[in-house]
Amino acid sequence: MLIKDQAICIRSVDYSETSQIVTFLTDIYGKIHAIAKGSKRPRSAFGGPIEPLTYGSLVILDKPHAQLATLTEFQPRFEIVRGLTRDLGAYNAAMLAIELVDRFTKDRDPHPGLYPLLVDFLRQLVETREVLPRLVGFELALLRHVGIQLVWDCCANCRRPYTESWQGCFFSSSANGVICRDCEGAFPDRLILDPIVPRVISDPACLRSIPLPLLAQLERILIGHMTNVLGQGLRAAGQFLKGLACQGQHGP
Ligand SMILES: [Zn+2]
Repeated sequence: MLIKDQAICIRSVDYSETSQIVTFLTDIYGKIHAIAKGSKRPRSAFGGPIEPLTYGSLVILDKPHAQLATLTEFQPRFEIVRGLTRDLGAYNAAMLAIELVDRFTKDRDPHPGLYPLLVDFLRQLVETREVLPRLVGFELALLRHVGIQLVWDCCANCRRPYTESWQGCFFSSSANGVICRDCEGAFPDRLILDPIVPRVISDPACLRSIPLPLLAQLERILIGHMTNVLGQGLRAAGQFLKGLACQGQHGP
């Protein structure tokens, strides 16, 4: 069958001297791997080697018994890649986002709305340079999309609704969300959380009202949580966190 869809490259690896295996997040069909034959040749049909963060319309030939589908057409758009080359923090955030999408999705498992979520997030990174609030908002939305939404509006353990009168506020990865003072003793992995976080986190627009150092702390918590859930480290997280630490030393 022929698959025609909009897609973004979330990973590409060399397969041979001239070909690549490319992982796409497609709009309709979810994540698909395909071989791009001849993509590394000077006069490639795809305009050159296919890079992560390029996106556009594609055609994939999917033969029933073939090990790998074959990419037959891809018309890459480069404005995201080019827009991010001048801002290392935004570029590292983009690479982290596509790695997260790759790791949290299964092959050929459709996630309606995930492709526009990712592309919109990347375009906003290019246009606004608001890296941390956009990245945190994207990660929370991604977790919702893949069915492991974090609990913020009540204690994830005893379900007591969160209010500003809580004496202490914690986050536990094993509890999958915020936990209250009465429950924190039962979760050795809990971390102290600023009470502003559960108050504003349900509204992505409000993430911008969180002071940057606090947002950086929240991002570290989220990366730690997602690493736990995945059971292994995230390649792009190290680079991103290193950049965050430098920002912290030299001011935003
Ligand atoms: Zn509780």
